[in-house]
Amino acid sequence: MRALFDLILPRECGGCGTVGTDWCDRCRAELAVDPIRLAPRLEPGVPAWALGPYSGPRRSAVIAAKERGRRDLARPLGQALAGGLRRLRELGEIDPPELAVLALVPAPTRTRAARARGGDPVARAAREAVSALAPEPAAVLPMLKFARGVRDSVGLSARARARNLSGRIAVVPGVRTGRSGCVVLVDDVLTTGATASESVRSLAASGVVVDAVLVIGAA
Ligand SMILES: [Zn+2]
Repeated sequence: MRALFDLILPRECGGCGTVGTDWCDRCRAELAVDPIRLAPRLEPGVPAWALGPYSGPRRSAVIAAKERGRRDLARPLGQALAGGLRRLRELGEIDPPELAVLALVPAPTRTRAARARGGDPVARAAREAVSALAPEPAAVLPMLKFARGVRDSVGLSARARARNLSGRIAVVPGVRTGRSGCVVLVDDVLTTGATASESVRSLAASGVVVDAVLVIGAA
């Protein structure tokens, strides 16, 4: 079946377009680096990290996963997130698995947009990250959603983004993390930090303390 699909639609690396593979070794290597510490304009109040700048394979893969239906890219992106989390532990930035069970909270997505794209790519990458961390117990907690009235943030200033999101990220009832968990908010892109800040604030208001933010690319 795969070969048949390859004939009709040649496989293409989601990061650089190389034909014949979904994700090439060069792109894999480019995402397997130490996360960079970010200084967002809107400080989420916890350390924020990215696997790199929002450019090159990070940007291409995020766009392909989000807008071109490349669900397969959730795996390499999830593996890259898992690698970033391991590295943050080695650096002592987040608690090791002996001390705290890791919980990944995907940043909220606009439901209708996610449905149109065939699911939420951030949540999918987070689930792949948890698989990549096995046998370590880790969980994805899909706790956040946008309330009604949130506009697309493209083109908005940092202040307008903050205003757009203020009070509009809600915690989904019924999903709860254990007290001893190490909670990391994950997202595909961090631009001004508005989504991360509002997510951290909203979780804190529900008694969930976020330890760090990790995104694929920093714009
Ligand atoms: Zn590539």
